[in-house]
Amino acid sequence: MHEEPIDPFNGDPADPSAGLDEPGEETDLDPLSEVERQDVLEDLADLEIYQALLGPVGVRGLVIECEDCREPHYFDWDLLRGNLRHLLSSGRPRVHEPAYDPDPDHYVTWEYARGYADGVHDTLTETADENEGEAETPH
Ligand SMILES: [Zn+2]
Repeated sequence: MHEEPIDPFNGDPADPSAGLDEPGEETDLDPLSEVERQDVLEDLADLEIYQALLGPVGVRGLVIECEDCREPHYFDWDLLRGNLRHLLSSGRPRVHEPAYDPDPDHYVTWEYARGYADGVHDTLTETADENEGEAETPH
């Protein structure tokens, strides 16, 4: 028995009144600002470069000083990328889940990775300059 008139749009996702009054799940999200988004995208791009340069020499990821725990956390490349993508899509950082039982020797800081990438870039530039006059020693 229906005492009230049935809402013809009840349960219909096309209901024109849907989402006007009731806060949906989306309003819980605090989307990243354009600047924050840009930062994360840049981090993702840097990460690709660092992994390409440092992965082959045995570096498995980055170590990040955690502000919550006040101790370093070790993140594999894939984990870092996953965290950044999660941040992009959800607007909030994932609860940190550092690599299990990491070997600190295989992780470097963002600063180190950045310096390394800059150094490689400089070396390539310098090598190109030096090679202009003299031939390289054959192996
Ligand atoms: Zn932590």
